[in-house]
Amino acid sequence: MDILIKNGIVITMDKERRILKDFSISITDGIIEEIKPEIKGEADFVIDASRKIVMPGFVNTHTHLAMSLFRGVADDLPLMRWLQEEIWPMEKKLEANHVYAGALLGCLEMIKTGTTCFNDMYFYMDEVARSIEESGMRGVISYAMFDFGDESKADDILKEGGKSIKKYNVAGSRIKAVLGPHAPYTCSEKLLVKTAEMAKKHNTLIHIHVAETKEEVETSKKEKGKTPFEYLDNIGFLRDNVLASHSTWVTEKEIKILKKRNVKVAHNPTSNMKIGCGVAPIPEYIENGVLVSLGTDGAASNNSLDMFQEMKICALLHKINKRDASVVPAEKVLEFATINGARALGLDNEIGSVEVGKKADVILVDLDRPNLTPLTNPVSHLVYSARGCDVDTVIIDGKIVMEDRRVRTIDQPQVLNFAMEQARDLYQKTAKEDKLF
Ligand SMILES: [Zn+2]
Repeated sequence: MDILIKNGIVITMDKERRILKDFSISITDGIIEEIKPEIKGEADFVIDASRKIVMPGFVNTHTHLAMSLFRGVADDLPLMRWLQEEIWPMEKKLEANHVYAGALLGCLEMIKTGTTCFNDMYFYMDEVARSIEESGMRGVISYAMFDFGDESKADDILKEGGKSIKKYNVAGSRIKAVLGPHAPYTCSEKLLVKTAEMAKKHNTLIHIHVAETKEEVETSKKEKGKTPFEYLDNIGFLRDNVLASHSTWVTEKEIKILKKRNVKVAHNPTSNMKIGCGVAPIPEYIENGVLVSLGTDGAASNNSLDMFQEMKICALLHKINKRDASVVPAEKVLEFATINGARALGLDNEIGSVEVGKKADVILVDLDRPNLTPLTNPVSHLVYSARGCDVDTVIIDGKIVMEDRRVRTIDQPQVLNFAMEQARDLYQKTAKEDKLF
């Protein structure tokens, strides 16, 4: 065996949601081979997991990694001002190297906080793929497609968006390419319909922003006579391969449509709160059997990629919103962040839980910490008390990517320097140099 993890508390996230005390795990050729109280035999690498939680790595289902370079550059602004005055001018000047630096920085932050797989939509996706390859992460990528309603551009844009599907979707790869039409309000009907056709043909996921703000819904009603999800359903877009991020402003009727079409939701509570968009109806989604997963969104609207923070904010937001402490309990939130994320990305046969036969995307959380003592309920501790810096080991695809908080795949000082250098270059090009402290 390649790796033996001994005597840990294993939070499996399997169907029975078993939590196993003092269990060991063996990993061979990237696959979880055995989970038993005691495993005999020689291993190349042995990890003592006593006083540690062993669990599936987080699956962050909505990111724009390269926006890590915009962290803190524009806070406390309403959405349209934030986009028009700050984000879009910077995105216009973006070059491949900026995206590469931002994506590497994002991968480093995610590894250090226990995320092993993410779903990213942006530009220059070859650079994001490169950062996945070098960092050892697992990632789903989509080129952000939009034609702003100009149908004559739809074919070319779709062609560009579809390129990476052929390039990256090879068996055994940690990279999966999917289609990313940005949103119903930035894509023409033609582009959306053709995207759905292409996704069907290639059996691939569609990653799209839907119903993020109230204004988006009002405009959709005015221009199309329908709310965003009603419109998408009407043009035959909604199927079980659609992952809709945000899905904040929806009617009861739309929740039923999501269930009927088996559409998955990527919930981004911090981003929704920070931009002041609203509160997604997560308790209603759960009640109606709509699959909810969890995402951070980009670091410009969060400003962190730490899924521990995201879990805690998710649990707390819905409790205060409903004035009911029993809604969205810790167990549900941990599902959102692990197995549901894998299901949302169509990867649940491979990742999302610690089970024999699955790929070894596993993290270890150090319990020898004041904030995690005494150990009463491990799941509660993960959601309400733990932080990303409590993760001490990260294994992805059976490879040790972080050991004792030291990332083995990429060099932290180098990644940080490169990010600073590229941020400076981008800020100079957009006359925002004064934003760097
Ligand atoms: Zn987004």
